[in-house]
Amino acid sequence: MPGKYKLVAFDVDGTLIDEMQFVWVKIHQDLGMDPEKVGQARDDFLNGCITFREWADYDTNLWIRNGVTKHMIEKSIVKFSVMEGAIDTIKELHRRGYKLAIISGGLDIVVNHFLSNVKKYFSHIVINQLKFDDEGNLKGIDIPPEYDGWGESKQIVLKTIADKEGISTEDCVFVGDSNNDMDVIKEAGLGIAFNATPELSEAADIVIKKKDLREILKIID
Ligand SMILES: [Mg+2]
Repeated sequence: MPGKYKLVAFDVDGTLIDEMQFVWVKIHQDLGMDPEKVGQARDDFLNGCITFREWADYDTNLWIRNGVTKHMIEKSIVKFSVMEGAIDTIKELHRRGYKLAIISGGLDIVVNHFLSNVKKYFSHIVINQLKFDDEGNLKGIDIPPEYDGWGESKQIVLKTIADKEGISTEDCVFVGDSNNDMDVIKEAGLGIAFNATPELSEAADIVIKKKDLREILKIID
C-alpha cells in the first residue's frame, strides 16, 4: 500500500515524453505554420488577452486551415520519445497501489502514440483531444472543461481529480518540468520538479536533476 501519498499526477510534454517542452510548438515548426501568427496567439495568451481555450482553438483552426492531417501530426511527433524510466515508473507506482493521473495542456495523440501500453494504469487523463474525420483530416479539438478558466488551470484539474477520489490535494504528488506547472506543483502535497526550469525547481518540494523518472520511486515508497 502507498505511504503518505495516494495519487501521483504527471505532466506530459517534457515529463513523460522527452525531447520537447511543448508539443504544440514542435508541430507548428514541423508543419511550417506562420511564426508571426503562432507567436501573436501565444503572446495574447501570456498577456491575458485570450483564455487557454481560445488559444488552443486558434492554433487548432490554424492547422485546419492549412489542411493538417493525423498522418502529418504523427510524422511530427514520432521524433519524440518516452522519457527514460517512464514506463517502469508508471507500472511500479501502480503496483505499489498509487492512483495515477495525467494533467496536460498538450495533445492526446502524443499519449496515444507513446503511452498506449500503460494508459490503462491511469485513473484520470486530462488532456486536449484532437478530432479527425474518417480520412484523418483535422476537424477540431475537445478541451477539458477544467481548462475553461483563465490560464491552463492545472491546479484546478488536480483539485477536481482529488475531489473525485475523495482525497485532498495534500495527498497528491505532481511531477512536472515547466513554468506552467507552477500553480499545480504548489497545490500538490508533494511537488516534484523533474528536469525542470530553474523557476519551477525553486517552487518545488523536491528537484530531480537526473533525467530518469525512476528517481521518483526512491522518493515515494
Ligand atoms: Mg511540461
